[in-house]
Amino acid sequence: MPSLSFLGAARTVTGSRHLFEAAGRRVLIDCGLHQERELQARNWDAFPFPPRELDAVVLTHGHLDHCGLLPRLVAQGFRGQVHCTAATAGIAPLVMIDSGRLQEEDARFKEKRHAAEGRQKPQGYAPLYTAEQAQDAARRLIGHPWRTPVTVAPGITISFHPAGHILGSALVRFQAADGTTVLFSGDLGTGGNPLLEGPVTDCGAANLVVESTYGDREHPPEDVATQLDGVLTSAWRRGGNVIVPCFAIERAQEILWRLHQLRARQRLAPWRVYLDSPMAIGVLEVFKANPDSCLPEIRRMMEQGLDPFDLPGLTLTANREESKAINLVERGAIVLAGAGMCNGGRIKHHLDRHLERDNATVLFVGYQASGTLGRQILETRGKSGERVRLFGRFREVRCAIEQVRGFSGHAGKSQILAWAAALTPAPTRAFVIHGGENVTQGFAAELRDRFGWEAVAPEYGQTLAL
Ligand SMILES: [Zn+2]
Repeated sequence: MPSLSFLGAARTVTGSRHLFEAAGRRVLIDCGLHQERELQARNWDAFPFPPRELDAVVLTHGHLDHCGLLPRLVAQGFRGQVHCTAATAGIAPLVMIDSGRLQEEDARFKEKRHAAEGRQKPQGYAPLYTAEQAQDAARRLIGHPWRTPVTVAPGITISFHPAGHILGSALVRFQAADGTTVLFSGDLGTGGNPLLEGPVTDCGAANLVVESTYGDREHPPEDVATQLDGVLTSAWRRGGNVIVPCFAIERAQEILWRLHQLRARQRLAPWRVYLDSPMAIGVLEVFKANPDSCLPEIRRMMEQGLDPFDLPGLTLTANREESKAINLVERGAIVLAGAGMCNGGRIKHHLDRHLERDNATVLFVGYQASGTLGRQILETRGKSGERVRLFGRFREVRCAIEQVRGFSGHAGKSQILAWAAALTPAPTRAFVIHGGENVTQGFAAELRDRFGWEAVAPEYGQTLAL
């Protein structure tokens, strides 16, 4: 009998990993890293199946919590193919290789710290995986077109459908030879992404595996364009630079497109715009190589040879020297850099130089989790004399702190429900994943009450017959 095993993102929001078994074949859907600090030890656990015996892997999209454990799977013996959309085959290598570098750095840092403290870890200091192992994993990726059946193992066929979460993100529909069907939502977009189509609803299945990251929250409608226009207009009047912490995948490119649109409406002052993130620049290239993953409006522009991300004053700063050159610009610059929550990356250097300038602006365009530097800075908004700690020094926040609301990569509660309700054919059974303990259980109850489906929130490691 076909079955599903929930090997991650089960009552948690990261570490997506699910095993579909049918007709003696095994296919893994996503192989993500657990990112919550208290769950990171799980990344080191032995795989609950011999990697060599897996027939194939399928990725819903290229975020780290969906593909970040793939290098370890390959290093431990997986020799099959990794199926994904063409755009994900562009993004996942950037994410995995970057993660490999960070894993190596972490291991070196820990070894150094322990040496200074005069202790040693009995099991040594090997990284979770290396950048080279990530490269090995990247060579197994095969990009497929949208909505086209792909046989990933004898008797198991899949197809990819736009999910609207990040470039290349897919709903993946499984069909087994015995007629069993399962739709994996991956991460679901809001439906309002200005660059991407989806989530679509014409690919329903009897069984639905659905994310619930925001299954207990709503995204109130916001006019992003008007807010952005207002912030940039007053920032230009203040005469300083605008520092924008943003995620390298999707958010940075969305901001460029929104700036492009403001300019087309003659609402953009002659800013110089710096995309100061090698990862965001890499993703921009993946966008340009995959017009068929974009909304028709964007696709048409690209097909006509127009670049929806181009601006007259745009500079892409891939290397460190070019990035440092931005320091010489005192006014009229918009700098987009990561990390999105300011807890690492080039953004920290820009914040260090700008927080004490009263003509500068820091503009937040995404959620800032508690405990991050981003949240600390955001919370100084409207207060005076507040200080934050950066590179071991305190900086007084004298610049303007602004926030544009309405950017979200994940569907809110009623958006997920509306999507689920519109699925054709309609599911009869749902498995709620990718959300906290209470959120997944609450959302499963919501699906039972509203639609009469059999709906559960599986536990970590649980196997359920289909
Ligand atoms: Zn995601």
